[in-house]
Amino acid sequence: MSHDAQPDASLYIAGRFAEGEGEALPVHYPYDGAVIATLRAATPKQVAQAMAAAQAAQPAWAALRPVERGRVLIRAAQIIRDRAEELARLETLDTGKPIQETRVADWPSGAEALEYFGGLAPTVTGQAIPLGGDFVYTIREALGVCAGIGAWNYPSQIACWKAAPALAMGNAMVFKPSEETPLGALKLAEILTEAGLPPGIFNVVQGGGAVGAALATDPRVAKVSLTGSVATGQKVYAAAAEGMRHVTMELGGKSPLIVFDDASLEDAVGAAVLANFYSSGQVCSNGTRVFVQEGILPAFLERLAKRLAAVRIGDPLDEATQHGPIISPAQLCKVRAAIERGQSEGARLVCGGPGEGTFVPPTVFAGVTDDMWIAREEIFGPVMSVLGFATEAEAVARANATPYGLAAGVFTRDLARGHRVAAALQAGTTWINAYNLTPVEAPFGGVKLSGIGRENSAAAIEHYSQLKSVYVGMGGVDAPY
Ligand code: NAD
Repeated sequence: MSHDAQPDASLYIAGRFAEGEGEALPVHYPYDGAVIATLRAATPKQVAQAMAAAQAAQPAWAALRPVERGRVLIRAAQIIRDRAEELARLETLDTGKPIQETRVADWPSGAEALEYFGGLAPTVTGQAIPLGGDFVYTIREALGVCAGIGAWNYPSQIACWKAAPALAMGNAMVFKPSEETPLGALKLAEILTEAGLPPGIFNVVQGGGAVGAALATDPRVAKVSLTGSVATGQKVYAAAAEGMRHVTMELGGKSPLIVFDDASLEDAVGAAVLANFYSSGQVCSNGTRVFVQEGILPAFLERLAKRLAAVRIGDPLDEATQHGPIISPAQLCKVRAAIERGQSEGARLVCGGPGEGTFVPPTVFAGVTDDMWIAREEIFGPVMSVLGFATEAEAVARANATPYGLAAGVFTRDLARGHRVAAALQAGTTWINAYNLTPVEAPFGGVKLSGIGRENSAAAIEHYSQLKSVYVGMGGVDAPY
């Protein structure tokens, strides 16, 4: 089967494809590096066109009944489900993630976000505040034009997670996917148009950091929502501050997973696997610091190595493949350098290693100490650090000794301890006896350097709207002079 994934054109502005007039952006299938499409970036003039289209279209969209906006999103969710196989294949080509993952995780999660926020839109109401005669009522209104900037690991899910609440609340969006994975957002734009979205409400521009920076500083933008690294987040947050723009920052992490000796060993090992190796380890919320209580540490490592020995690595389009390639040569270099660093720091390689070609196998280091680089920095690849601990207080203190705070997990059969530890962990998203499940019904996001704002759940509505209060005078006006 051909791997050609060339879209009709590179950009989507005002309800139509438009060819970019900026630099060429070849799109590679990460498995073999083959060029599957060549796109072109947007020029500043084309970014301005997308902004103008969004600004012009937004007021009429916001003036619709919420149930009408919701209906469009729910229709889009249905179209995504109808085309599930085609979309999963495209996502696999764009990202290199196994088709067995993209079929169940990526677009399906995007469809759920559209369905959820489509249904939620008509339920958003204001408050009436009685003042003994006079009264105040509040209106939760759209912000205007929102900019969305995506990372490459879940490109279509990220586009949906940002577009769904933004559009549900009556905003328009200009979205820039990662230059590594530009294809899914164009599909979303097409699908939304087919579902009845008016032209200009969801636009896609392509390009790298410069195009992202242009979005974050455009005077027409009321809000910037970024999914990316902490370093980019700091730049985008600072740029947005100049215009007092709202932000949502979904950034990186170095999340802890704490396994107590009373936990179900098999479940804890399974969770550690899911917390580190899904999507070749390229997941922001991964629990890359696995703290295991000393009594069960040898059994944990033995079981982990045995299960990982069975993992099937290969062509992501092959249905049997469980572990795909790393997204790009640049990221491969970073991950391999991290593995070398772990070895030179004296950590013990339990399994895996630098790998060959475009692959890095699931890699586990034991004997890791808190001060090692591999225990402190986000690697964003399939590299797990296992650290021993003795007491609950020690585990919590060490888990929290990081500037990041995206996610955390705890495995124990002692329910009181589970809740106590979850409460003590400094993370925006925390799991007890589970890991990396992010249902649309639950808020998702980080604390500390891992970000600000929440995606998913009713909480996301607040991040894509603002509150207006209207004071209603019911009597005369008593002026003092
Ligand atoms: P990145 O920060 O390099 O790029 C993210 C996006 O920002 C890209 O679209 C890029 O073009 C754009 N960008 C780069 N410089 C910019 C600038 N100065 N102004 C505006 N935009 C700019 O991140 P990445 O390598 O694509 O993704 C990996 C990172 O994303 C990891 O750190 C990972 O943890 C994080 N991530 C976080 C979440 C989350 O929900 N918290 C989800 C996925 C990925």
